[in-house]
Amino acid sequence: MKNRIRALILDMDGVLWRGEEPAPGLVDFFALLHERGIRYIMATNNASKTPEQYVDQLARFGVHVPPETVLTSAQATASFLRRQAPPGTPVYIIGEEGLRRALTEAGFVLSADGARYVVVGWDRGLTFEKLAQATLLIRAGAAFIGTNPDRTWPGERGLLPGNGAILAALETATDTRPIIIGKPETPLFEEALARLGASPEETAMVGDRLETDILGGQRMGLFTILLLSGVARREDLETSPVRPDLVLEDLAALTAWLKG
Ligand SMILES: [Mg+2]
Repeated sequence: MKNRIRALILDMDGVLWRGEEPAPGLVDFFALLHERGIRYIMATNNASKTPEQYVDQLARFGVHVPPETVLTSAQATASFLRRQAPPGTPVYIIGEEGLRRALTEAGFVLSADGARYVVVGWDRGLTFEKLAQATLLIRAGAAFIGTNPDRTWPGERGLLPGNGAILAALETATDTRPIIIGKPETPLFEEALARLGASPEETAMVGDRLETDILGGQRMGLFTILLLSGVARREDLETSPVRPDLVLEDLAALTAWLKG
């Protein structure tokens, strides 16, 4: 398989860094990709940050990449909506800067007034009024879209509510299931492959979570590589129904595998 890999979809947290610490061998890894002409895109379920914020983080770790190499679930959501609705369409959002920016740059008007779409990303300024507005719109027939299904978010105090928890509140209030854009669903992967100009057969997914990165990669027909440098532990492989094609310790091991 190794010789067929022309492109990589890379998860970031747990793969390229962990918290504020870069993965060992991060600079060497990107040097190898550039040297071999292996295309890459970094794809994240987090809709709250902008691509520039990720580019800045990588630059602090000594890796310089253009913003087009970062794909957030907010941007994939904007692309998904662009295929269904013309610019100027009113969209009601629950979300932060990353989602606001992605949708306004795609030409949508952020307004509850006449909104045909309710898009829900992670929002640390969530209020009852926002949930109420979204509920009324969805009950009135607006399409219900979630950027990502992550149930929790690891904060300094422990596991905090993720976007999946906000979606669950709205699903309960509306009896409607959201369309999900992020991993493990396929729209984020489809957008990544489109940007890479790559086919599934020549692309590998590299991630640290079995139930999102690896499961989603398998649904798209990608070669899947689990790194044990983040969430998943070797023990999890014994009980999980999700089987990656390749399991490696960390990014340095992936570099060595690609070189070997
Ligand atoms: Mg991760």
